[in-house]
Amino acid sequence: MRRMLTRTLATLSLVVASTAVGLVVTAGAAQADGCYTWGRQLSQGMSGEDVRQLQIRVAGYPGSGAVLGIDGAFGPATRSAVIRFQQAYGLAADGIAGPNTFNRLYALQDDDCTPVNFSYAELNNCNSTWAGGNVSAATARANALVSMWKLQAMRHALGDLQIRVTSGFRSQACNAAVGGATSSRHLYGDAVDLGASPHSLCTLAQAARNHGFAGILGPGYPDHNDHTHVDGRPSRFWSAPNCGVGGRTMRDPLDDN
Ligand SMILES: [Zn+2]
Repeated sequence: MRRMLTRTLATLSLVVASTAVGLVVTAGAAQADGCYTWGRQLSQGMSGEDVRQLQIRVAGYPGSGAVLGIDGAFGPATRSAVIRFQQAYGLAADGIAGPNTFNRLYALQDDDCTPVNFSYAELNNCNSTWAGGNVSAATARANALVSMWKLQAMRHALGDLQIRVTSGFRSQACNAAVGGATSSRHLYGDAVDLGASPHSLCTLAQAARNHGFAGILGPGYPDHNDHTHVDGRPSRFWSAPNCGVGGRTMRDPLDDN
């Protein structure tokens, strides 16, 4: 009886031990699994959905004035973006996305794939569905995600101080209510308005040039003296004349307010 009990206890503790190991392993993977887990090292010449997921997260590191294509093809521009990301976080800067790079990205993201310092709710105070804009709800949401990763990169470059979002996605109804232009990038989900403090509006407009924003409107541009607007429009339009950003002061057709 005692012998049997001992054996039972031994078996039990073995089960407990292996369960504990299982839990540890699961917990370790879950941190990454909550959103997206990379299954292989990524380097130049490779392609796939895993590359595209990487590009979304390093979209804020394209180099001054550049925009990184989110196309799933790991070319020289993606390699440069990975290097800049690695440098920004003190990692070995080899342009190859391996465990160290992935672990840093895991630490920077929430379970819904948004970077830790920004959220879908923050990027959309219009509705909860992302519907009613100029693109599908899924596209608007995906566009907002890329803008959030760009903002996360900019936030880090500016000393990890808060960046205040005052407006993001707008449905056509929400856009009309605030007097936005019918082609405003806020209807596409990639536009974000930023408020001053702790950074000045000019600091934000100037920094945005380095983090993949094709659209920048700020102080000195009509109706932009109280916020800095950034977006992911197809071709570059920068104008924050009071900050030395761009130069045009005439209104752009893609303008919002
Ligand atoms: Zn705006």
